[in-house]
Amino acid sequence: MKTNNFFSLMKERNCNHKKLFLKKNNGDFIKYGQLYDISAKFANTLVNLGVVRGDRILVYAEKSVENLIVYLACLRAGFIYLPINPAYTQTELEYFIEDSLPKVIICSPNKEDTVKVIGEKFKVLAVETLGTDGKTGSFLEKAGKSSMDFADVICTKDDIAAIVYTSGTTGRSKGAMITHGNLYSNAMALCETWKFSQDDVLLHALPIFHVHGLFVATNVALVSGSSMIFLPAFDVDEIINHLSSATVMMGVPTFYTLLLQNTRLTRELVGYMRLFISGSAPLLAEIHRQWSERTGHQILERYGMTETGMIASNPYVEERVPGTVGFPLVGISLRIADQSSGNLLPDGEIGLIEVKGPNVFKGYWHMPEKTREDFREDNFFITGDLGFIDEREYLHIVGRQKDMIITCGLNVYPKEIEEKINGIAGVVESAIVGVPHKEFGEGVIGVVVVKKNVNLSEKEILIELKKELAQYKVPLKIIFVDMIPRNTMGKAQKSILRSSYNNLFI
Ligand code: AMP
Repeated sequence: MKTNNFFSLMKERNCNHKKLFLKKNNGDFIKYGQLYDISAKFANTLVNLGVVRGDRILVYAEKSVENLIVYLACLRAGFIYLPINPAYTQTELEYFIEDSLPKVIICSPNKEDTVKVIGEKFKVLAVETLGTDGKTGSFLEKAGKSSMDFADVICTKDDIAAIVYTSGTTGRSKGAMITHGNLYSNAMALCETWKFSQDDVLLHALPIFHVHGLFVATNVALVSGSSMIFLPAFDVDEIINHLSSATVMMGVPTFYTLLLQNTRLTRELVGYMRLFISGSAPLLAEIHRQWSERTGHQILERYGMTETGMIASNPYVEERVPGTVGFPLVGISLRIADQSSGNLLPDGEIGLIEVKGPNVFKGYWHMPEKTREDFREDNFFITGDLGFIDEREYLHIVGRQKDMIITCGLNVYPKEIEEKINGIAGVVESAIVGVPHKEFGEGVIGVVVVKKNVNLSEKEILIELKKELAQYKVPLKIIFVDMIPRNTMGKAQKSILRSSYNNLFI
């Protein structure tokens, strides 16, 4: 029976149980056959704890192969996997538990005591622990005694496979309900676009509490039967040590920026690689250029979000254009709409990016109103990102709608100014934000990081910008900082910058 269930798809496409799947950092490895056996034990363990179809399993544990197998166990048993960034505080965790009411929580051993207190408050059935060494934790102890036979639960494409909370920089964090059909369709589309095969070895250094590391990276590897080198976190030396035995790496832009600073990164080192992919935040065109000069590889930039999975990608064969995110993936419709009227805009004009397709999530958990607000009547999802389509049909992202600045009644798109500043010799990176201004509504400010030992003044930057930008886009002030605050996925946290400089002009 064709179920559009991601787990069945993976099994169907991976009959070769002998093949290597995961290579752990300590040299151990696990084969596909073992993956099915362990996930069966995990599924049985959860059933024995009293979990039933549709229940949430909240995982607040560090990255490990076993953590990933909990995800697979949930998929095959019809439970909802709910990953939480282990760096979140107890207060944050309490919000997620209260909102999602999980039946079981699996946490790192060192967090057990505090999580148990919160668990009791919200009547969680069990709090289990999971270490990172493949041996430690009450969950593994119980799994050791569980059966290896498990009859997979048939899920339909509309059943929820996971709930992933958005970062919630502008308000309460929202739980995006991701269905089995979403995972299935996106994994298939990405495998096709990026030409994944059993011969691939994916270098995996992303966290698995976020769609990039969890769905994009692992799902693509799982359905194509490729192998993975599974690193606990991003570490430049570790990546360099493994690059010569990998064929693909997926990363956030910061990975590439940091790797470029290491002299061991050479063309010879990456001789076996076939593809470098970047996403989750904008990749500077300059980094794209430096990377191809140093390694001979053009980074392939793609675009997506928690609610939609991957939406667009630069092409595999045709030109990968720096500063763009390419074309919509197969089966996905994309359009650009006017920010206020919602009317469709012609190519070249900046507006809201809206998408529709089997990749689009089911809605926000327990937030029907918010879900309705974010969809048009014809079911297009309003991403909240602003962009335009150029004459060659490549999609450009100019930033989040909430980051757009309105000064003297005129729209300013930060990316345009950031690109100009980044192009000035001696600048490492920049962020443009709008802060309240008593005359202009919002005032544009530039937060800039310059290279060590470089002397660059505010005046010099402004002179350069005035040559190329209309006066209203030129920042009223340039502030020099050591680094731009970023979250774990490398996204600039503009809300932090806005609140730091909130009182500059009022
Ligand atoms: P998240 O839901 O955490 O994956 O964040 C999704 C958001 O990241 C998108 O809505 C975009 O604003 C941003 N994003 C993802 N990929 C890119 C990219 N290649 N270029 C620019 N922004 C991106």
